[in-house]
Amino acid sequence: MDDDFLIADILSTTKTIAMVGASANWKRPSFFVMKYMQKHGFRVIPVNPGLVGQTLNGETVYGSVTEIPDQIDMVDVFRRPEDCPEIAEQAARIGADTLWLQIGVVSHAAKQIAADNQIRFVENRCPKIEHSRLSGLLGLGGFYSGLLSSRRAPNPQPPTPTRHGGFAKSSHFETLSIHAGSRPDSSTSARITPIYQSAAFAFDDADHAASLYNLQEPGNIYGRLSNPTTAALEQRIAALDNAIGACCVASGHAAQLVALYPLMAPGRKIVASNKLYGGSITQFTRTFSQFGWQAELVNVHDLEAVEKAVKSEEVAVLFAESLANPDGNVSDIGALADIAHRVGIPLIIDNTMATPVMCQPGRYGADIIVYSTTKFLSGHGNALGGAVVDMGNFDWFSGRSYPSLNTADPAYHGITFAETFGKHAYVTYCHANVLRDLGPTMSPMNAFLTLTGIETLPLRMRQHNQNAAKVAEFLANHPQILSVSWAGLPDSPYYELAQKYLIGGAGSVFTATLKDGYEAGCRLVESCNLISHLANIGDTRTLIVHPASTTHRQLTSEQRDAAGVGDGVIRLSIGIEHSDDIIADLSAALDSI
Ligand code: PLP
Repeated sequence: MDDDFLIADILSTTKTIAMVGASANWKRPSFFVMKYMQKHGFRVIPVNPGLVGQTLNGETVYGSVTEIPDQIDMVDVFRRPEDCPEIAEQAARIGADTLWLQIGVVSHAAKQIAADNQIRFVENRCPKIEHSRLSGLLGLGGFYSGLLSSRRAPNPQPPTPTRHGGFAKSSHFETLSIHAGSRPDSSTSARITPIYQSAAFAFDDADHAASLYNLQEPGNIYGRLSNPTTAALEQRIAALDNAIGACCVASGHAAQLVALYPLMAPGRKIVASNKLYGGSITQFTRTFSQFGWQAELVNVHDLEAVEKAVKSEEVAVLFAESLANPDGNVSDIGALADIAHRVGIPLIIDNTMATPVMCQPGRYGADIIVYSTTKFLSGHGNALGGAVVDMGNFDWFSGRSYPSLNTADPAYHGITFAETFGKHAYVTYCHANVLRDLGPTMSPMNAFLTLTGIETLPLRMRQHNQNAAKVAEFLANHPQILSVSWAGLPDSPYYELAQKYLIGGAGSVFTATLKDGYEAGCRLVESCNLISHLANIGDTRTLIVHPASTTHRQLTSEQRDAAGVGDGVIRLSIGIEHSDDIIADLSAALDSI
């Protein structure tokens, strides 16, 4: 059975849980998992030989599972893996339906005993996280549940879903871009996710407030950390990348800051592609240096140079773009992921230009994906935004040093994120610490606009790519054009990589070099009547800019050449108008210069 349906089935049929290793310390995960499960209607009986006869969260503590007089449906284990086979035997003896091992607890022997006794088995997961994820009780933002529904979430408390409980699954972009993260509103039945324009969220009582602040219970506290509209967008973007969760922020640049912050510290280094979008290069090399973060830029197509650059211990992360802005070069994501993982660091891919529809970097080993949602995801040029997407695969305990994630956090009563949240540790940290303390939060209105934009993403990307192919071909054959950088042209040095990593085309942002240099570039952008002269990409409208007179104006002619935006270069972002009209506008403009 599919994992999500198995877990949903377990959580909807279980009534009584024996919690082995239940702690009386309110800061330990077992204590607050017990409280959460009780709050959601489960009876939880604690098992702990050191506390026998005492009362914990209103229940008597037993010394072992077999001593409990009541019928137990599920045995939930907060113990070391070596203790699990014996607990599995006991679970079989008392006729439990499910054996559940907590985050960090994996036991092949216990799994075998469960299988031999027809006991449902889950390991390395937490029922609190799974219950909140599957029932849409979103805490700090978007953990994607994998379940879609056109039915209203029952009010006041959503039940745990079952196979027959009104849920569907899909792996198709066309479906996920419309449905993921968004079902009819629980109280009003509104079909479109409402704009929850609220700065703060009410607490039920003091205990509820304390549990939220301790990160022991999922839920919204204050809009700087999370918001329900934004959470819907986070789930949708995570779904498109087949990831476990996302954190949406105020802009693409904010996404880079938020993505790097949990990994970096003064003296640590980012190794990044030297072909990144120019604004990212400035952010990495100048602004981040004020935090004491170092950045080394390398040619990511020279894999030996990358391998050499990541060797030193202070390197915390490798960063590249799947498809680079502006000249459309394509990264060998699989090779970069292998290099990063060999030295125990994560690979971050900026997937803004490709979008998940053309490339899912996680499929090739990227650990974290960032977006400027301002571009294609939103698509209409009406909302700034960014997203940090977590594939949930990086092991924060076994790589290089990541103390933010794998040591006790004094700001949250000493919880260790990787222990408490398992594969959701990084994305939870982005909300709970980085948004809380740095504050680059996405507005609910922009989340709403971006959710709406994403609904048409697969359709738009198809049209962007088809138009780009026609325009690139037109320009490549035009007598006034020296070269065109579009990676879908067979003579592009990135053609092979584009074929391997990009689906449906080579994107719709590329450069073209005019034979007549700087003046011709200025005249061309001024002569377009349909195409907009502005510094953005990924809009439904076709956009044009002459970098040498705008975005790269402060550089010398030599520096501009090195950055691939020489004096005669124009950057185009091909929109979804009719391709004949785009070509006619460019053709007339070229004739007039
Ligand atoms: N990444 C890429 C590839 C971009 O093109 C941009 C902006 O152009 C950014 C990040 C930064 O995004 P934002 O402008 O939303 O901060």
